[in-house]
Amino acid sequence: MEENNLIDPITYRPSLQKIRKRRWFLWCIILAYLPAMMVALDSSDYKTWVTIVFVTWIVFLIIAVVFACIIRCPRCGECFHTHGPTFLPFRRCLHCALHVNADKRAAEAEPPKAKYAKK
Ligand SMILES: [Zn+2]
Repeated sequence: MEENNLIDPITYRPSLQKIRKRRWFLWCIILAYLPAMMVALDSSDYKTWVTIVFVTWIVFLIIAVVFACIIRCPRCGECFHTHGPTFLPFRRCLHCALHVNADKRAAEAEPPKAKYAKK
């Protein structure tokens, strides 16, 4: 693990960009619920539209969560947001504590230890 910290985080850029895109997709789906439901409730046939909006939203939410769950950390190769059955969309890898913006930020003098790292 010590030698992993010596690798320049810029080499992880393509994978970190992919992780950031999937995180944005997840948060956009979550945030789209309220305006979509407000539009559906304003329609004349609101019972039908609320059902359509809810089912569509839940399908997109499941897809977004699955994509966020299966993305791998470029440094340790483990699932970035998943530790066992637990999905935690934190900004750091749950296994090696690589930050999602590590390629954009200055190197950390004292990088934090992963909270859920294997013993
Ligand atoms: Zn990692």
